[in-house]
Amino acid sequence: MSDVDQKVSEYYSKLLKRNAGEPEFHQAVAEVLDSLKIVLEHDPHYADYGLIQRLCEPERQIIFRVPWVDDQGQVQVNRGFRVQFNSALGPYKGGLRFHPSVNLGIIKFLGFEQIFKNSLTGLPIGGGKGGSDFDPKGRSDQEIMRFCQSFMTELHRHIGEYRDVPAGDIGVGGREIGYLFGQYRRLTNEHESGVLTGKGLNWGGSLVRTEATGYGCVYLTEEMMKANGDSLQGAHVIVSGSGNVAIYAIEKAQQLGATVVGFSDSSGWVHTPEGVDVELLKQIKEVERGRVGDYVKHADNATFHEDGSVWDLEAAVALPCATQNELDESHAKNLVDKGVAYVAEGANMPCTPEAIEAFQKAGVHFVPGKAANAGGVATSALEMQQNATRDSWSFEYTDERLQEIMKNIFRATADTAAQYGHENDYVVGANIAGFKKVADAMLAQGVI
Ligand code: NDP
Repeated sequence: MSDVDQKVSEYYSKLLKRNAGEPEFHQAVAEVLDSLKIVLEHDPHYADYGLIQRLCEPERQIIFRVPWVDDQGQVQVNRGFRVQFNSALGPYKGGLRFHPSVNLGIIKFLGFEQIFKNSLTGLPIGGGKGGSDFDPKGRSDQEIMRFCQSFMTELHRHIGEYRDVPAGDIGVGGREIGYLFGQYRRLTNEHESGVLTGKGLNWGGSLVRTEATGYGCVYLTEEMMKANGDSLQGAHVIVSGSGNVAIYAIEKAQQLGATVVGFSDSSGWVHTPEGVDVELLKQIKEVERGRVGDYVKHADNATFHEDGSVWDLEAAVALPCATQNELDESHAKNLVDKGVAYVAEGANMPCTPEAIEAFQKAGVHFVPGKAANAGGVATSALEMQQNATRDSWSFEYTDERLQEIMKNIFRATADTAAQYGHENDYVVGANIAGFKKVADAMLAQGVI
């Protein structure tokens, strides 16, 4: 075992002990530390001043009670989180997730990933993440509003345009951001539009923010395919999920000439051999808040399946856009057998480590979420720029900026991988490119 291997394995064992019961956080850190061994062999000074240990310890973790009253007059109590992980590059930036599975370990994994993702965008934003174990499914509008108001009543003390700027994630879309912003405005008596992103278009929101993560993932995929002499034109694509990221990944992939042959939600998956009717999908998921099974009632040539998974389908491109660890080794092997050549993570950490290994062993081009889904946060940072200058940019201009950012992320990822002798290993490339910028800023700013 080399000195570096030993040092890194010591850091990791300590981290496991200090953060017991947080498997998703362990998984996210393990992947990054694995790549950092390569950097530390070349540039040992990155281990100085406790840099790695500081990077893995959030600057601040806030956990709070969120009491609210449901439609039956019963008091419900949820738990709220905001993990302010690293602000070396700018104010903390990262979404809020409302889902019953949320716990501290999940928010820490997301916040940790966010540091490197935000660094890759090239924009001045630090990393943070938050949320609650509140389950919005089946709740009325009034209940959602009361929950958001209670959540913000505590959160508002900790956020601000120059401090921490939350946005949406699973379970938090335009409606929730509206209720959260309304309560922030009421509590502070200020229309501080830069405090949240993902706002409505007539009160400080940015065009393209809704589409940004899905579109960005597809722009990066197209760039990767071009670099390998391929294109989305005529390609078959599988997209998992049918939420914000998935819908706009499907839309952009089809605009670029691909056929999306399947999508899913937690109730099952839909096979669409002739492509997806995106307007119908939007109507069902965004307007009616229905399930994917409803899609097949209105679409010809589409079938709904509760058994198996969307990863049983055959396609050249797979875009997991639902949730963490949704694509495991057996799914990966199945996709490889059926000829998948490109995988880009629209969601955060949707592929298990074993699945990633199976893809990489088989020569599949694989881009991790911190690079592939950075379009959302990048456009959030563009929303912050517009808010700061009281400006609002056109769809075309904002979309061009997004495309440019995603191309740059792919280039930085691919070039860094090659520079460190790991050509085409985009996991290593994204981790190292994201890390170095943050690490340089942390070293310059002293031991804090
Ligand atoms: P949404 O809540 O809008 O959508 C999530 C989708 O995933 C839903 O269709 C949900 O189905 C589905 N899903 C959840 N669990 C499973 C499962 N086990 N199997 C199949 N489908 C499942 O969230 P987003 O689209 O915003 O987020 C999706 C992912 O992208 C998350 O990992 C998020 O962190 C990441 N991300 C999001 C960004 C954004 O801008 N929104 C930015 C960067 C990353 P159901 O409704 O049945 O639960």
